Amino acid sequence: MDQLKTILSRIDGRGYKAYKDIQGRYDFQRFRLFVDYVQGDPFASPSRIRVQIPQSIARYPEEWFKEPHRRVALEDWICRVWAQKTRRFSGGSGTGKSGLIAVDIPGQEILSRTAVVVNRRFVEVRITVGLPARGRQVLGQKAIEMLCRHLPQLVEEGIPIQQLDTQAIEKRMCLVDNQQAIRKKLAKEGWISFVADGAILPRESGISDRPLKTASVVPFYAPESMATTIEVPHGKPLRGMVVSRGITLIVGGGFHGKSTLLQALERGVYDHIAEDGREYVLTIDTALKVRSEDGRRVEKVNISPFINNLPFGKDTLRFSTEDASGSTSQATNIIEGIEAGANALLIDEDTSATNFMIRDRRMQQLVAKGKEPITPFIDKVRQLYEEKGISSILVLGGSGDYFDVADSVMMMDEYQVVDVTDKAKRIAQENVMERVVEGGDSFGEGSKRIPLAKGFDPSKGRKEKVDAKGLKTIFFGNSSLDLSGLEQLVDPSQTRSLAELLRMMSKRVDGEKNLVMLLDELYKEIDEKGLDILSPFQGHPGDFALPRKLEVAGAINRLRTLWVK
Ligand code: ADP
Ligand code: MG
Repeated sequence: MDQLKTILSRIDGRGYKAYKDIQGRYDFQRFRLFVDYVQGDPFASPSRIRVQIPQSIARYPEEWFKEPHRRVALEDWICRVWAQKTRRFSGGSGTGKSGLIAVDIPGQEILSRTAVVVNRRFVEVRITVGLPARGRQVLGQKAIEMLCRHLPQLVEEGIPIQQLDTQAIEKRMCLVDNQQAIRKKLAKEGWISFVADGAILPRESGISDRPLKTASVVPFYAPESMATTIEVPHGKPLRGMVVSRGITLIVGGGFHGKSTLLQALERGVYDHIAEDGREYVLTIDTALKVRSEDGRRVEKVNISPFINNLPFGKDTLRFSTEDASGSTSQATNIIEGIEAGANALLIDEDTSATNFMIRDRRMQQLVAKGKEPITPFIDKVRQLYEEKGISSILVLGGSGDYFDVADSVMMMDEYQVVDVTDKAKRIAQENVMERVVEGGDSFGEGSKRIPLAKGFDPSKGRKEKVDAKGLKTIFFGNSSLDLSGLEQLVDPSQTRSLAELLRMMSKRVDGEKNLVMLLDELYKEIDEKGLDILSPFQGHPGDFALPRKLEVAGAINRLRTLWVK
């Protein structure tokens, strides 16, 4: 520490670049400080440092981090503690980012992230700081205060076990053990989702992912016919609704909570924190929300199961476009999803192309099949399940034609689920659907594309450019990538990961391996070596959180430059 003070005193008042002198490692009394990267000026992206405190001082019991799901939950916990504590010290006078002390801030999900590392040897927190300046001059004394006073204080308050709310951490461990147990049960039974009684599904607002907390909130309650009870390792068994394999419809009047239920299922691919309301809403990891996304680019996707005979003889076995329509984009999203390994598709009428979802009797009579390139989803959804084992959960308030193809129909009635499967089947029998089934004998082939290196060029001028901006944009080489079609992408740190994963992919595509093989390879490596390998930097890797393979595939597929064999 004295060494750091000496340097900071020496460079006080000098040009900002002098801060580079503090790069390195410092031993404090109770922890190690690594200054991995020093920003070039007070306005540039902040400096990256790490504090590492040995387990001899932290003293975390090993059962907190031995199993991966517990370790992730613990790291997330520590991250939240720091996100809160750093706020108190952050800021202060000076130019640009002077005085900033921050760690990555998690949302409602518990994700694997790089911000905190806990292992047998140490606890490490990855922090960004804005080294203090006046104009572009080093404020050495302020820096000393920040790094040699505030930082040790933060470490003392935020890491040793004596300072932590161990009861709350134990509770978190119980929560994630239970979540894990339910996920195992889903896998074992082949279920898609579980929604526990008492879950709070609606969110505070369209821009807030926190639970709605008004008096009028209706907690979830499973109808008896769809309910099951799952044993969990901690506490009483949980009763709730199972969404089974096959085709499930969510119907009901407008504003009765259909989309809210589907969105909760969508997000159930992640574990949520306690009091989120969705902590016991769990969905298999391979469930993919699919929407229409007009304007997106498509690169040689076989959308022929859904679209044929396009005007001007345009190929749909290897369909490409710079500007997809509502229906072609939705077909593409489904085929690409299947290609990437999706086992369940989640579709909402609100974000679907109507002509992709339905084509009724009257329209069939008016517009002959030969003149309609689209085979609607209703004629493919069963084949998709029976031939490929891919389930669908569909929100549909407007078309009873789907009663014929559904295995299960739930109705939202004033935010409550009612099992109306039998009723819907009876209605379907009494009102025979006169429409002609257009789906043909089988679903057809999907895509198994092999990306080529020339489509993965991150260079811009003489430099490489790979950058994430917010949640839904990535700049890759000369092009910008719009990810707003990926509705299960939830955290900007995941988006940063996607950007780096694209960069890594650019070094691995070889014209031999298909997309899935490339993804599997990358994830295996992350699994073995940890999330830090995403980073091009040594030491503090930057703030990353793990996205699913499906989102990585989604990002690749939306590259404006993607080129496949
Ligand atoms: P739908 O898709 O059936 O038209 P939404 O899911 O969009 O309906 O829900 C309509 C409104 O009702 C939303 O503002 C949502 O926040 C609210 N809502 C949904 N579920 C509940 C619930 N369980 N309790 C209270 N409000 C809810
Ligand atoms: Mg809706």
